[in-house]
Amino acid sequence: MTDLWNEALQGLQPRLGQETYDLWLRPLTVAAVEGQTIRLRAPSLFMKEWFENHYMEAVLDEIEARTEARYVLDLEVDPNAAELTPDRSAPPAQAGPESGTQPAPATSSAFATPEPATGHIEVRKVAPPPVGLSERYRFDSFISGASNELAASAARAAADQPGTRFNPLLIYGGVGLGKTHLLHAVGHSLYESDPTRRITYLSAERFMNEFISAVRYNQFDQFRRKYREDCDVLLIDDIQFIAGRDRTMDEFFHVFNALYEAGKQIMVTSDRTPSDMQSMEDRITSRLNWGLVADIKSPDLETRVAILRQKAENDRIAIADDVCVYLAGQVQSNVRELEGALVRVATFADLKGVPITTGFIREVIGETTKERRRTPVTVEAVQKAVASHFSVRIADLKGPRRHKGISRPRMIAMFLARELTGSSFPEIGLRFGGKDHSTVINACKRITALSDEDPELRSAVSQLREQLSH
Ligand code: ADP
Ligand code: MG
Repeated sequence: MTDLWNEALQGLQPRLGQETYDLWLRPLTVAAVEGQTIRLRAPSLFMKEWFENHYMEAVLDEIEARTEARYVLDLEVDPNAAELTPDRSAPPAQAGPESGTQPAPATSSAFATPEPATGHIEVRKVAPPPVGLSERYRFDSFISGASNELAASAARAAADQPGTRFNPLLIYGGVGLGKTHLLHAVGHSLYESDPTRRITYLSAERFMNEFISAVRYNQFDQFRRKYREDCDVLLIDDIQFIAGRDRTMDEFFHVFNALYEAGKQIMVTSDRTPSDMQSMEDRITSRLNWGLVADIKSPDLETRVAILRQKAENDRIAIADDVCVYLAGQVQSNVRELEGALVRVATFADLKGVPITTGFIREVIGETTKERRRTPVTVEAVQKAVASHFSVRIADLKGPRRHKGISRPRMIAMFLARELTGSSFPEIGLRFGGKDHSTVINACKRITALSDEDPELRSAVSQLREQLSH
């Protein structure tokens, strides 16, 4: 019966990969088989739980495929392996001139997985889970769209093949656009694909504070070890913070070099490009440019709608699709504010016991959001002005009719929407009754061409432009 177990593992090996197999499956031993129950022994509680959470199903399926019977796997921790439990396996503080006087910091309490019974020499250390990563910030909760596509795919690539093509990876962009989210997602993903990776995540501000206190309290050796040696992946948020702080920049420079030379993945975020980081040392900005620098822009309407839908679903907020589109239209520049607006509207609706409608949204966020003042001209305002100028109905501007009396004003409205609101072509299309972005592009081209030859059209456009932008 032990054969069944071994065969099942062999069968799974190609699918799981040699490393996973050696690390997580091979160390388990069969203690007994009783009926349809296979009793296994794991060398530590951690390994037992890890196996149960990650590989148990796959192994059971494999056994079932081979025997056409459903077995049960029952794991116990090997009583002889007590010394391998996490608490007791922290590496002993090393004596010697480098060791300093402090005990090893808690975060270095990696614990060893056992040598497989076959006499494998290598001992793999399972690193403690990375500290400070938000559970919510993962790749599968990150909505990709044109505004963040490059950054998101670079982050995925860095997570798939750390230390190779996109090293270092720098993501930059304005506030609340998902930089931290991607940074955390990379951390989660790298740890999950290989829990022996030591992943260090922190803000640049924290890096500075730790550095200062290490210098002050004579713990620099520990600091150096933590960041330059005991680290396989370094994730630093808001790196622009250290610009102008000379000693911290200097230290970051050395950390960068040590990790980079060792082929370790470095990922940082920033609110600006390296070349715009005033008072950042050139030797740092040039290194940040070595790998990939990817930007995140404000999301377009479709992405905002998708983010709202996801958030509404997660938080169980009932909101109709068209109301979602409306809300996404009101808060344009920043995802954090967008999420905040949804929560605010949902809370008020709940308190008042009313459904979330466009009117209700206007009531709730009309006064509080500054978005409107920042973007004074909306696509709706353009449609309204054009409709009244040409005495057509707004519904016709949004509708499908191709009659010249309608299509001309419609093209003008699209043209002005593009010029005055800064909305993207797909976004404008969406607001004109869901038309394709190519229709909007054509309209803009047509109006530009027509204004050259048609003075009447030219004057209508400039009159409307004047009226809309005051
Ligand atoms: P930044 O670090 O760029 O200031 P964050 O990563 O903190 O922004 O993002 C702000 C909020 O918006 C977070 O709650 C984040 O989950 C959310 N968010 C941003 N972009 C996206 C996206 N593309 N998909 C889903 N949520 C997003
Ligand atoms: Mg951030």
